[in-house]
Amino acid sequence: MKIAVPDSAVEAILPAVADFLSVPKMVVGGQSCEALSGQTFAVYDPATGGEIAQVPAGGVEDVNAAVAAARTAFEGPWSNMSAMARQSLMLKLADIIEENGEELAQIETLENGKNVMISRLIEVQSSAEYIRYMAGWATKIYGQTFDVSIAIPEGTKYQAQTRKEAVGVVAAVTPWNFPLNMAVWKIAPALAAGCTVVLKPAEETPLTSMYLAKLCLEAGFPEGTVNVITGTGSDVGAPLVAHPGVDKVTFTGSTATGKLIGIQAMKDMKPVTLELGGKAPMVMFDDMDLDLLGPAIGIGTMFNSGQTCTSGTRLYIQKGIYEKALDIIAAIAGSLPIGSGMNPGNMINPLVSAKHQAHVKACISKAIEQGAKPILNGAAPNEGYYVAPQIFTETTQDMAIMQQEVFGPVISVTPFGDADEAMTMANDTIYGLGASIWTTDVNKVMRYVPKLKAGTVWVNAHNIPDQNMPFGGFKQSGVGREHGAGALENYLETKSVCVAYPA
Ligand code: NAD
Repeated sequence: MKIAVPDSAVEAILPAVADFLSVPKMVVGGQSCEALSGQTFAVYDPATGGEIAQVPAGGVEDVNAAVAAARTAFEGPWSNMSAMARQSLMLKLADIIEENGEELAQIETLENGKNVMISRLIEVQSSAEYIRYMAGWATKIYGQTFDVSIAIPEGTKYQAQTRKEAVGVVAAVTPWNFPLNMAVWKIAPALAAGCTVVLKPAEETPLTSMYLAKLCLEAGFPEGTVNVITGTGSDVGAPLVAHPGVDKVTFTGSTATGKLIGIQAMKDMKPVTLELGGKAPMVMFDDMDLDLLGPAIGIGTMFNSGQTCTSGTRLYIQKGIYEKALDIIAAIAGSLPIGSGMNPGNMINPLVSAKHQAHVKACISKAIEQGAKPILNGAAPNEGYYVAPQIFTETTQDMAIMQQEVFGPVISVTPFGDADEAMTMANDTIYGLGASIWTTDVNKVMRYVPKLKAGTVWVNAHNIPDQNMPFGGFKQSGVGREHGAGALENYLETKSVCVAYPA
């Protein structure tokens, strides 16, 4: 089933959304529940700063209950289910997500602020498609059989096989920038592999993950297969990652938090996947097609108001086209409509929180203080957490704006002469998540793609993901890859079985 995605503005909040927001619940062991402490915390609408819901403030006791439920499901009903039955449940979930697509899209835009078309197409539609893609892998998990080469003692032969076994209970911790999509990137391959999950969404944006858990119950997943605990990183995230009942940790978020989580996981030798920050370069050569600057800016840099880990934030433009390209880029970035995400025509929407807005504004001030030149003077609405797009020129590589993740609609544009110099500047960062090259010369593509230290390099495009295309970071942008068959491997252990028999 594929349900048509509307492209209209949101005129009114759906009754089902209002109902859900009145008492959003966590899901533990198949039951919708409040935190055991009874405590809650507020979630805000970034477009107005107004409170939209009170959400359970989970803690260690809730984590214990969720991990125990996930263990029971893993040892029992979920593992006893055939791969075909797992696949069917996942396909059913994808359908149910689409049936609830507009509800989920509204909730996502309410809690995150993003353009409702991004909510509809990426958070909802591409999440449903990702679940379908991963459901297909559930029935295609197998090992190998081979003869062992030694023959000791004489007269004995050995045959070996490898078995792929679900790793067990997965702790998934996710960020606020693509809340539903990031949750699905973790839950879908984990379920396909036969694991059970305890998900801890970001405290700014827990609501679509809670709604997803509710839809998992509706789809008929056994109790405890998918659990969602809401709360802060310190109250829920840290105890979840450290819990002895967790077999695998998967995290998407900042590099700083990723380091803490990686260290904790290693203390117990838990396998860990880390998808972290980025500071992606876009290298634009003299021979590029300047008509591509539209998508380069709209999708590559300002998409999701710049709150994308692979956002192109450092543009290096060859001197022959620098002035002309800069004029075009400034005209595009300066004319993007700013306003509520509920109207799809607004390309720049509020940032996720007052705290994040303050961070982005501080990055802009610091860049000016360090001598970078801002060339836009756009205005942002006073109410809500908006920041107007900004472009910096006259930057040097050592400035904070060239090194630190801003995660907002803020880019730098730097001229270059020699291509090797551009590669050196592009790689001059602790990050290595995404990068792009813009040229009409295939020889430059072949020569410079290998030089860029990034997990994904796009050519004449930027920020285009695919469920089949491995996704992850070089350097401090992470450990491991999501998407494709590799995503499934993140949730599987390999067991070798060696059988002796008389020759
Ligand atoms: P964050 O690191 O602040 O928080 C991410 C999650 O970790 C949240 O759920 C938070 O509550 C939790 N957390 C915080 N401290 C924790 C701890 N000590 N132990 C366990 N959990 C803890 O990140 P964010 O601000 O929510 O998200 C933005 C960041 O995510 C950016 O750096 C962005 O680049 C990154 N990101 C990366 C990818 C990718 O695939 N590489 C995708 C999206 C976002």
